Amino acid sequence: MKPLIIAIDGPSGAGKGTVARAVAGALGYRHVDTGAMYRAVAWKAVRDGLGLDDEAAVADLATAAVLGVEGGSVSIDGHDVTREIRTSDIDRAAAAVARLPRVREILVARQRAYGQSGGVVMEGRDIGSIVFPDADLKIYLDASPEERARRRAADPAHSGGREGQAAVAQSIAARDQADRTRTSSPLMVPDGAVVIDTTGMPVAAVVERVMALVSARLGATTR
Ligand code: C5P
Repeated sequence: MKPLIIAIDGPSGAGKGTVARAVAGALGYRHVDTGAMYRAVAWKAVRDGLGLDDEAAVADLATAAVLGVEGGSVSIDGHDVTREIRTSDIDRAAAAVARLPRVREILVARQRAYGQSGGVVMEGRDIGSIVFPDADLKIYLDASPEERARRRAADPAHSGGREGQAAVAQSIAARDQADRTRTSSPLMVPDGAVVIDTTGMPVAAVVERVMALVSARLGATTR
């Protein structure tokens, strides 16, 4: 049985990370968080004092960077940035570098390399639309803006959790708007994706729903 490529897209706070990690764990697949790649590049661009709209400089940084985004920790050029990339400053910086087409090209090529032999659950904004338009299964997770803000504010991995929920709601709305309206690979529901509105759903129920879709897909590929 050929291991699948599973694409999970959606806006911030929709539950992509938790669900992708659980599904990958259940299947023994790799989990790749592509948002962490944009965050790590943004972290280094900030640290090096680059302009976040300096496409050539940020693209050079991304080309040269040694990135590690598997197994629950994130590193760039030997620095463990797992915690440091989950701040509201890096939220904004990541969305800024993610607008730059050359930076996207470089990171998309790396994402395709991670997934080429299958057996991967990859989460992001453009996985089912651009990175793997022929993915075996495409899921788009969504939730109401209030619920997404509540989850983000309660997320201990996100040091932005000290902000009140109203401030978090405002910053995720701004980031969603930036992600949806950029010209290069905007956030959208990819063709052929199953949309799951996770508002009010416990994580276990979302994982169960995705696993049912995976089983159906695996059944279809062996027939
Ligand atoms: O998913 P996460 O919130 O960590 O992603 C950080 C930012 O990286 C997003 O706001 C988005 O601008 C960008 N991103 C992207 N394409 C992806 C993953 C993330 O543009 N595949």
